[in-house]
Amino acid sequence: MKATLIYGAGDVRVEEVPDPVIVDPTDAVVRVVRSCICGSDLWPYGSKPASEKGQRIGHEFLGVIEDVGADVNGLSRGDLVVAPFVWADNTCDFCTEGLHTSCRHGGGWGFGGVDGGQGEAVRVPQAQGTLVKLPVAPDSALLPSLLTLSDVFPTGHHCAVTAGVSQGSSVTVIGDGAVGLSAVLAAKRLGAEQIILMGRHTVRTDIGREFGATDVVAERGEEGIAKVRELTGGDGTRQVLECVGYEDALNTAFGVVRAGGTVSRVGVPQYQQVTAGRQFFMNNITLTGGVAPARAYIEQLMPDILEGKINPGRVFDVTVGIDGVPAGYQQMADREALKVLVAP
Ligand SMILES: [Zn+2]
Repeated sequence: MKATLIYGAGDVRVEEVPDPVIVDPTDAVVRVVRSCICGSDLWPYGSKPASEKGQRIGHEFLGVIEDVGADVNGLSRGDLVVAPFVWADNTCDFCTEGLHTSCRHGGGWGFGGVDGGQGEAVRVPQAQGTLVKLPVAPDSALLPSLLTLSDVFPTGHHCAVTAGVSQGSSVTVIGDGAVGLSAVLAAKRLGAEQIILMGRHTVRTDIGREFGATDVVAERGEEGIAKVRELTGGDGTRQVLECVGYEDALNTAFGVVRAGGTVSRVGVPQYQQVTAGRQFFMNNITLTGGVAPARAYIEQLMPDILEGKINPGRVFDVTVGIDGVPAGYQQMADREALKVLVAP
């Protein structure tokens, strides 16, 4: 079968690899129907040192089960399933707490002999705990939105939940990438009344408005902070969702948060230290967020997609076949594509 490998910055290739087979009795093999490229795939695409040996990549996919191990219950051949961006047993103490990203028997895609999601098929470890059945046909028009349950939509949701967004909230979302837009949608779904989206790509902020943003602030830095304060009677918003990962974005978040408020970050931090000094302390700011336990949210978020209430798949603007994946990376890196859908 074909799968995507990364050899270093700017060097993603699609190659023939062995077909996956059941190794452990807890495994399943899934033929991939849809996968996609994540903003976080762009970090290694931008900076990974060159290597002779490629590494499998991709962590968002849905597909049809082709084979199941002897210890996998509740899943059978032919089931359409979605996989969250880490695999997990769904039974250990961390999973029970809803923190599947810290599963005692879990792990990531593309490492340690586990397939990546950007391929034609995947061996899924801990299949029973990891995979969630999708009650639609494999050619359903809902596939793009259901695929967002792998990562991007639960990540936006996690940001809103950990920030404490609820009915009537006033929220600032920083970043108009696919995660930022998903955070807007999640905040709206949780009942936020005012959603200020900070982003400057009109095509993207237009999707943000469609998702529920009430205001768009294109300015950045001090100017952007002043604009958000102006929109909020000078105070800033009680919840701030930081969906970028750069230090500048976090500092903007601290600049627009209301005293007593919460900043949640889900952009993978591209910095080692957080400046949370006297001003942060004097204003009683809370900093939260982190990697999203997508598996914990899939069943909660799926019904609204099935009922057509929300359409998080709007974040996909380019579709490629498996051979088009390297070009898809480049399009996302060049910001020509918001998020690339892969139909292998
Ligand atoms: Zn677990």
